Amino acid sequence: MTMTQPLARPPARPLARPLTQSLPRSHALALDAADPLAPLRDAFVLPPDLIYLDGNSLGVLPRATAARVQQVIEQEWGTGLIRSWNSAGWMTLAQRIGDKIARLVGARPGEMVVADSTSVNLFKVLSAALTLAQDDSSARRVIVSERSNFPTDLYIAEALARERGFELKLVDTPEALPAALDDRVAVLMLTHVNYRTGRMHDMAALSRQAHEAGALVIWDLAHSAGAVPVDLHGAQADFAVGCGYKYLNGGPGAPAFVWVHPDHVERFWQPLAGWIGHAAPFEFTPAYRPAAGIARYLVGTPPVISVAALECGVDTLLAAEPLGGMAALRAKSLALSRLFADQVEAGCPQLTLVSPRDDAERGSQVCFAHPQMAYPVVQALIARGVIGDFRAPDVLRFGFTPLYLRHVDAWDAAEHLRQVLASGEWQRPEFNHRQAVT
Ligand SMILES: *Cc1c(COP(=O)(O)O)cnc(C)c1O
Repeated sequence: MTMTQPLARPPARPLARPLTQSLPRSHALALDAADPLAPLRDAFVLPPDLIYLDGNSLGVLPRATAARVQQVIEQEWGTGLIRSWNSAGWMTLAQRIGDKIARLVGARPGEMVVADSTSVNLFKVLSAALTLAQDDSSARRVIVSERSNFPTDLYIAEALARERGFELKLVDTPEALPAALDDRVAVLMLTHVNYRTGRMHDMAALSRQAHEAGALVIWDLAHSAGAVPVDLHGAQADFAVGCGYKYLNGGPGAPAFVWVHPDHVERFWQPLAGWIGHAAPFEFTPAYRPAAGIARYLVGTPPVISVAALECGVDTLLAAEPLGGMAALRAKSLALSRLFADQVEAGCPQLTLVSPRDDAERGSQVCFAHPQMAYPVVQALIARGVIGDFRAPDVLRFGFTPLYLRHVDAWDAAEHLRQVLASGEWQRPEFNHRQAVT
């Protein structure tokens, strides 16, 4: 995982699509020297010589996590044992971390919990939304989403639609969404930032259009929380779920989060009525009585060690609050993704940019497509210590996490990509074996 090739300036040859001039590496270094967020990188364990452009899939390990997890294991579990449910605050961890994530996405204290996975939380909120929409009008039988949504979201919706007698209607382009919102629609279920292209929806505009059509709206924030500013209340969202292990740096398989607008939260029991979501779990009564507020979206015993690790990840984002918070992180994220996209477009005319060029429509990632060589090019980059990923069928995906990436990382990654293409090294057989996780 070392960079052996010296990084040279791209040669001054005529480009097929000279959209932007290539910038010199010194330009990126100057941006880093002036970057007020640069110290935040120290909060992470980053292997040397690695450029990590996959924080949108698995965030980097925070420096604080190992010691905190060790403390939970050795002291809270090892010594405190069962007493730690009270003495170490294990019983309220889900709410405490939920309150921290709420600050990143425009929710208020007491409105969010961490629990289960994004898939499971989506099941809970979609089920709730279908029931609420039907309370208002039994003629509403349709769930609208996008064909390009992340598959687990579509699978959960497909199964629930079948079970509850709804129809799942998928549109092929974001532009087709408004027209799909008619008076038969119960729920609009969208992912804010598309996992494959990085295209970002206008959350406020679509939420308003859904409400004007009489539908409720669910937002999946898997590629938004900790990546772009989100204002759930300002956008009048009804439900939101999201992921702990991507931009929140919570660790592999970290618990997810769930938010329900306070107007809806007590109108329905979510269907996974477990004892931790009961109003009084330790009364051990045979009949279910839902807890007040968002706590009813908890199901079973929380995974304490995983939640403790997630808190360390969320804290790396809250550490940016004195430096301008999500707005400052967003500005840096856009600068990184723009720099990378411009350099790659200038140096790699073989690739097609599939992420929006317009900053307002781009999340925190940049994707290019190539019909044949996307997979082996990503493998060749990984061998050079530049980690992005491949998303079938033809996408090279690069995530930009402003907490720990430098402008020079974006510049170097683009230069590696140019060299991989120019040298033909992506054709080597070892880069052409498809592995299980891409
Ligand atoms: C990553 C991601 C998920 C992941 O769901 P899990 O239940 O954690 O596996 C769900 N939805 C979207 C849009 C994602 O990007």
